[in-house]
Parts: sequence; structure tokens; C-alpha cells
Amino acid sequence: MKSIRTIQDGREALWRITEADRENLFRLLFHRYPDNEWGTFFRFGFRRTRWGILITWVDAMKPESGDLDRSSPLVEFCPAYIRRALAALESDELAVGVIHSHPQDCAPFASRADDDMDSYFAEEFERFGNGRPYASLIVSRDANRELSFNGRVFDRGAWLPVKNCVVVGEQLSREKARLGYEQFSTTREPAANDKTQERLAQLLGTGTPQRLRNSVIGVVGCSGTGSPAIHLLARAEVGELVLVDPGHFKSSGHQRNHASRHADLSANPAPTKVALASRLVGEVSPTTKVTGFVGDLLDEVVLDELVRCDLILGCTDSNYARAALGDMASHYLVPVLDFAVQMRAENGILREQIGEIGRYGPGLPCPWCRGRISVEGIWYETATDAERQFRAAAAVEAEQRGVDGAQYWGGAPPPELTVGYLTTVVGAMGVGYAQNLLLGSGKLPHNRFQFDLGFSSLGVVADERPARADCACQRSIGWGDQARADRSVSQPCHWTRTTIILDD
Ligand SMILES: [Zn+2]
Ligand SMILES: [Zn+2]
Repeated sequence: MKSIRTIQDGREALWRITEADRENLFRLLFHRYPDNEWGTFFRFGFRRTRWGILITWVDAMKPESGDLDRSSPLVEFCPAYIRRALAALESDELAVGVIHSHPQDCAPFASRADDDMDSYFAEEFERFGNGRPYASLIVSRDANRELSFNGRVFDRGAWLPVKNCVVVGEQLSREKARLGYEQFSTTREPAANDKTQERLAQLLGTGTPQRLRNSVIGVVGCSGTGSPAIHLLARAEVGELVLVDPGHFKSSGHQRNHASRHADLSANPAPTKVALASRLVGEVSPTTKVTGFVGDLLDEVVLDELVRCDLILGCTDSNYARAALGDMASHYLVPVLDFAVQMRAENGILREQIGEIGRYGPGLPCPWCRGRISVEGIWYETATDAERQFRAAAAVEAEQRGVDGAQYWGGAPPPELTVGYLTTVVGAMGVGYAQNLLLGSGKLPHNRFQFDLGFSSLGVVADERPARADCACQRSIGWGDQARADRSVSQPCHWTRTTIILDD
């Protein structure tokens, strides 16, 4: 008999699953309750990260008749079922694990028999899967249907404890694993003043401030819509912000950026937008941890931190970032709220004051399904100056030959002219929706909608089109890094590498 000890060096496993998949799973695992256990093999995607490993639920390989021993109150896997699970490792890059229930009111801690089973499976699955990880999860419920879980992932010779499960549905929840005697947990310091969230607690319940303190929110883009969003998230005292922006502060951004001060206008060199946002957060809410990146969201170190967020706010106006966020929502089960603004005027009269909020998530239409982004747009954003000049010259030459030059060059996109009141409206609304998703206190009115401040009834237009059945976003949900071939964008190699400026 081998007893298994998980490592305690700070590395951990994070388990992400959709609400719908989890409901189906529990129906299966608890169907012999209250006295008898049940279990299943399951397939998962994974990503090895700086902090440990992410495992993303793909599907259960449900036991068929004869796969588990029904006469036993425990879970006993028959050889044919094990062979089927091992064979699954040959068809794709996904990993395979086991989840089983313990009887009602029993703790979800591994028994000696579970240790034996896991030692055996970890070795077999690693060997058949050429070094792929193996996951083992245990769940149980008490008489009040209160759920608890525990788990561990074997990867490259070590057992990592599963400390949290992020459940993605109409509500976004982050549930802590029940810890055994050999494990310890670190708790975040309480807020300096428990009166600061009094209004929220009175409005939505006493547990709400704690849910926000337990949450990790990514913000990609830290100026127009991003800085008001960050400001409000700091005031809500969220637990952690992962901030991403490659840019430096410019004077023209001062009217929109909630984090910049007058003195920043003359600072030399100009501060990064991430540094300004981080300073603002520190001043408003010192207990909020900030992990900031001056760089691109697809840089591996940035992706490592974004995939552990409860939710990401997309505050850039680029095709490239939208495509990447759509991929993350589908492949890593990280929901995204995406914000956009557009303003247009003629002869001093406003024609457009459009705000837009859209949601990406597993199963929802991605930005490609929605026609929200274009290949040409991504090309322009990711090309080098030399490539752009080459195409512009080719277009001119084509026009001279009497051929439509647009196939070579659609022209440079017009500059974004937006001002602070509209970017703040959209950033603030977006944070409201984000908080309500975390608290389960409200939904978005539509998965994507636009409004125009100058129109009657605010000119709301909804986009409720379903995902395209043939789109890549629907075929690799939860595949993690194993969906790499289905990513719609990759980081251009000529972009400068990311620097982590803050990581406390
Ligand atoms: Zn067990
Ligand atoms: Zn799609």
C-alpha cells in the first residue's frame, strides 16, 4: 500500500468546469446516495503554469453496464473500463482522470483504497499518455445537500493539491476544496474596515463582500474602459486584479484615464498604463493584490495568470485581443465581458455615442461567430511597419493596373476618437455586470448589445445569434493547451516580450 502526499510548496491545481457539466456529473455521481458511491473516468484539458496546473473539464466517459461493480457500495473499476480509458489517450492530446463520490456525510478525503487506486492509475495513465497528468477528484454531500470536494493531480512526479474549483455558468463561483489535516490554507487579510462594503451587504446579503474578496479579475486594457473598471473593482475590494496593457500613458489619454494625475503628464519617461492603474488600486484598496503585465495577453506568462481569473474584462478595441479572449473563453473556460465604444461627429454634431457590452464563454458565440472581428483587422494590428508599407505599395500598383487594390490594402483604420464620459459609462456598467455574475445577483440583458446615448430609448440593439455550429469555438471547449491548433491568433514574434512589473 502506498500513501500519497500532495506537495506543499505553494503550487496547486485549479479545476474549471461549466455549471451545466457539473450538474450532469453530480446527477451521475450521487445517484446511489445516500449510502453508495459512484464514479467515472473523465477527459480534461490542461495547462502547466507558473503556479501549478490548470485542469479544464471536457466530458465524462460515463460507465456503461459492467464497467463498475454495482454490487459493491464502493467504486471498483473493471478492467474493460480501464482499458477504454487508456485507449482514449490515443485518440487526442487530452488527459484522463477519475472522479468519484463518497457516501453522504463522509468527508471527501482519499481512503487507503483510493491511494492504491490513484497510485496505480497515475503510473498507467502517465505511461500510456506519454507524460500527461492524471487527476483524481472526490466529492460528497451532506444531508443538507451541502457539497464538499477534494482532489489531486499527478504531474511529472508530484501530486498537486486541487485547492479551488471555478464553476462557470450564469453565476461564477469559486469553491474552495475541503482541506485535510496535512494541508493548510492561507487566508487573505480582512479588509481594513468592514464598513466599506456595508451598502453592498445591505443590498445583496452579508456574504457578498467576501465573495468579491475571493475573486480574481483580469483586465486586459488599462485606459478608456479599463481604468474606470479597475477603479470600481478596487472600491469593491476584489481579492486580486491581473492587469495587462503593453502601452505607456500619453497626454491624450488623460481625459479618459481614471488612474493618471496631472503630474504624470510631464513624467519622463512616461509611466506605463499598468503602473498607473496599479498605483490607483493601491491607494483605494491596499488589500487588493495586483499582478501587472506590460505586454501582450497571449504571452505565456500572461496567459498563465489570466486562466486562473474568475472573469476577464476585455477593455481593448482590437480585433487581435478580441480573438484571443474568445479563444480563452472557449478553450480555458474563462468567461469574458468585452467592452467597446464608438463616437462619431459631423460639423460639431454627434452622430454616434455607442457603447457595447458582449459576453464570451464556453458554448456562447465567439467574436468570429458574431462577425465582430476580421482577418484583415488582425493582420493590420499584428503586421510590422515594413509589411504594412509593402502591402500599401502593392495596392497602389494594383490600382495603376486597373485592379481593385483593396485586396492588398484595406487602408489604415481611422483613429479612435472617444471621450471620457462614454468610456466611463461602459466601463462602469461592465463592472456592474461582472459583480452581478460573481454574486449571482443579476444577468446581462443580452449576450451582446449596443446602445447609443443620443437615441430615443437609448437605441438598444441586441445580438442574440447562436454560435455557428461549424466554428472552431464549439469543437474544443475546455481543451486547454490541447486546443492550441484551434487558436485563432498567436503572438507575433516581432512584438516585444512582456515584463512583469508588479507581482506581490
Ligand atoms: Zn474514495
Ligand atoms: Zn465561434
